[in-house]
Amino acid sequence: MQCKDIPDGVFLDAVRRSPAVGGVGWRMSWDVHAALEFLVGPVPVNLFYAKARKLIARGLLGGCACGCRGDFHITADCTGGQCCCGIN
Ligand SMILES: [Zn+2]
Ligand SMILES: [Zn+2]
Repeated sequence: MQCKDIPDGVFLDAVRRSPAVGGVGWRMSWDVHAALEFLVGPVPVNLFYAKARKLIARGLLGGCACGCRGDFHITADCTGGQCCCGIN
């Protein structure tokens, strides 16, 4: 499996399906990973973060793909503040 085998929309759908935390709609990386695997089957963690980095680079996803908790969110839902949108 490669990045291109995970459609952008499916990854973003996994973000939406994951429980929001902190009252600002951010999702933990492990919750998004679990939701993604529910949708497409097993995804290696390095591939999960590689896909997240690509979406962040293209402005479709906010958060951090360094391997931390992520704080992933749909860019359109971004509330700003301490958000790490566009930085990874
Ligand atoms: Zn990070
Ligand atoms: Zn953001």
